[in-house]
Amino acid sequence: MRIVIVGGVAAGMSAASRAQRFDPAAEIVVFERGDYVSYGACGLPYVLGGDVDDFGALVARTPGQMRARGLSVRLRHEVTGVDAAARTLTVHDRGAGRAVTEPYDRLLLATGVSPTVPDWASSDLAGVHVLREIPDGQAIQASLQDAKRACIVGAGYIGLELAEAMRARGLSVVLLEKGPEVAGRGFDLPSQRRVRAELEKNGVDVRCGTGVTGLTGKGGRVSGVQTEHGLVRADVVVVAVGVRPNTGLAQAAGARLGKTGAIAVDIRQRTSTEGVYAAGDNAESVHRVTRRRVHIPLGLTANRMGRVAGVNMAGGDATFPGIVGTAIFKTFGLGVARTGVTQAEADGLGLQAISVDVSSTDHAGYYADARPIQVRLTGERGSGRLLGAQIVAENHISAKRIDVVAALLHRRASVQDLFDADLAYAPPFSSVWDVLLVAADRLN
Ligand code: FAD
Repeated sequence: MRIVIVGGVAAGMSAASRAQRFDPAAEIVVFERGDYVSYGACGLPYVLGGDVDDFGALVARTPGQMRARGLSVRLRHEVTGVDAAARTLTVHDRGAGRAVTEPYDRLLLATGVSPTVPDWASSDLAGVHVLREIPDGQAIQASLQDAKRACIVGAGYIGLELAEAMRARGLSVVLLEKGPEVAGRGFDLPSQRRVRAELEKNGVDVRCGTGVTGLTGKGGRVSGVQTEHGLVRADVVVVAVGVRPNTGLAQAAGARLGKTGAIAVDIRQRTSTEGVYAAGDNAESVHRVTRRRVHIPLGLTANRMGRVAGVNMAGGDATFPGIVGTAIFKTFGLGVARTGVTQAEADGLGLQAISVDVSSTDHAGYYADARPIQVRLTGERGSGRLLGAQIVAENHISAKRIDVVAALLHRRASVQDLFDADLAYAPPFSSVWDVLLVAADRLN
């Protein structure tokens, strides 16, 4: 059995490890076009901001450690073609500068996403970046050496994390967002406004409703960002306006894409082409609240899908249960989290949704350092089904309360189930009626 995996980060390496554990006799080969495997891209903004010492700290396992465990990991090998009928791949060995043909019995496409680069950002000017992989982070770090002004385009979670990192490095930061508010469609207005206030409190110049039309440069280096409302001067520009799934190899293999544009897979991570699997950011998953296929590229999902694919490719039987749209990020002093669907998303889906907003403190008000926490809980009228939650907390760890709601959503629980939950209480941790229970009571 020869299992070949394209892409050696979260989904790819999870799959390789699980496949090997399930069938130690299988030959497992990982092709990775980049210089690194098995690292946490999620940590990149924190290296740039100085919370994490260096990029090397993000690497969980080196190729050498993988090889010692019997996995064949080939860096700087880009898979450029698939012949699904012959079960072969064309692989470009960038080091040797030649192409080779490689056979497979089972193939996993764990190729991730690529950052969206609008036409105006396709530029040779130094100081213009995207952030996806370790070399992108290293390039941004090099640009920061003599930079004073940063402009971040896109106020999704990566843009927000970058804005904080650049402020930590002492730069002035302008954050441009085409949409009406920061934090994107994943949050309703009360959460978005709170996040924006936090950014502004920390010196980020937030400009929403501002489309970008071009870049200006001087001496081969970026000098500004041209917007619909005028020029923003900048020595470093990071474009964080979204991602698109890497589906080229799947299409070459004849595999179907879903409506979201990502690769369609079944619960065993199989594509529509025999012997070809897909996992991670390039694949769709099922949203357990809406029962729809969605493309929400996140780290745990990628790791989980990879495990499932690894077991199945090695002859086992594992299934991926789907997601509930849980996500969290930190912006300066705030933790910002969501799960399920927002009121706006529920309205868009035609659900009869209703939301309540509760502001309280993260623990008993009389105990030291009680911090504000804001919860929006969304449920379905009539059925009482729990649909989602958003939490914005000044003690950013408190936003992890979102996990309580996520776990209940996973089981399609009701608002009453949340109210009935036996949550832990002592004054340093929560109020006797935790803010989640208060919100559930009000929504009931
Ligand atoms: P990737 O990590 O993208 O890996 C795919 C690999 O495939 C790449 O290394 C690529 O080089 C390789 N590849 C592609 N095509 C080929 C080819 N043809 N031949 C050979 N190799 C190929 N998620 C969270 O849940 N929480 C967070 O806080 C969070 N923060 C993030 C912050 C940043 C700055 C970034 C960039 C991402 C963040 N993510 C976060 C997302 C998370 O990193 C991804 O969900 C996860 O890395 C996806 O893993 P993957 O294996 O599917 O894809």
